[in-house]
Amino acid sequence: MKDVIIIGSGCAGNTAAIYTARANLKPLVVAGKEPGGQLSLTTLVENFPGFPEGVDGPVLVESMKQQATNFGAEFIHGEVVEADLSKRPFRLRIDNEWFETRTLIIASGASARWLNLPNEQKLIGHGVSSCATCDGFFYRGKKIMVVGGGDSAMEEANFLTRFGQEVTLVHRREQFRASKIMLERARNNPKIRMLTDTVVEDVYDVGQNLVTRVKLSNLKTGQVWEQDVDGFFVAIGHIPNTRPFAGQIELDPDGYIVSKGGARTSCKAVFHAGDVQDRTYRQAITASGAGCMAAIEVERFLEAEGH
Ligand code: NAP
Repeated sequence: MKDVIIIGSGCAGNTAAIYTARANLKPLVVAGKEPGGQLSLTTLVENFPGFPEGVDGPVLVESMKQQATNFGAEFIHGEVVEADLSKRPFRLRIDNEWFETRTLIIASGASARWLNLPNEQKLIGHGVSSCATCDGFFYRGKKIMVVGGGDSAMEEANFLTRFGQEVTLVHRREQFRASKIMLERARNNPKIRMLTDTVVEDVYDVGQNLVTRVKLSNLKTGQVWEQDVDGFFVAIGHIPNTRPFAGQIELDPDGYIVSKGGARTSCKAVFHAGDVQDRTYRQAITASGAGCMAAIEVERFLEAEGH
């Protein structure tokens, strides 16, 4: 029986692990299907305090993990596929093994959202990607398309100009959700061409098992056309990883955990940290702060129970 299990190994989970490990609670951290979380998919992080020159995302998150391990946190690979939060100790099935814990920190983050085009899933890994930093390298000198109008899309489009001969950014509206500075950076990049009021209808060619072109449609003019593309990057936001907890803790209509103040959820002894609850700030530093809050709540909760 564990005092605390932490689900997720991004900034939130790793920071919760540092704090609970220093409190001698010997946390078990379940790495999840995307170990290291969103930071492991980025390059330079320029806004995490303490790094005037910036810091490489994967390096930062790996350092956090090392720090937690030094204090006695245990990390395991695997994913929580089933949870029973109806009574304590809570029971979690991680892959095929059941674990018991007195308290739980859910820091499982949010995963990439897809467009749900007819051929999209069939071409993932064959030209369709949700991670520019992972896959950009494969499109050196090629034609790249990025879909989305938020900061992620701007960041990916800018990053991908390092590789591609051209980057087309497709957004369904004329107004952008992206912050002004990120949008301006993309607009000023001579390799980026913007297509607004435009949606992608499908991506081809499943027959060749390779992305070769996309079908586009302009929502204002009704024009439909095809464009040659080699790399197709979807950057339209994320979906919170809360499926095993549906019906057991309160979630909002999009599946994000509803906070009950501090790091508390609707279920006693279950705490939240990071993007799995936060749809507003979603920064590395706020996720770390949330991990710290959840850890302190766990410490106090267990202490009050006499553990
Ligand atoms: P986001 O801000 O939610 O933007 C998602 C974008 O995708 C929106 O423009 C949305 O269009 C579009 N979209 C959603 N569903 C779509 C669909 N089915 N078809 C076509 N387009 C669709 O997500 P994000 O860009 O991933 O950013 C998430 C958070 O992380 C934000 O708070 C952002 O500031 C932050 N972030 C920060 C940085 C940075 O500072 N370095 C980098 C990346 C992300 P509509 O606008 O029409 O809804």
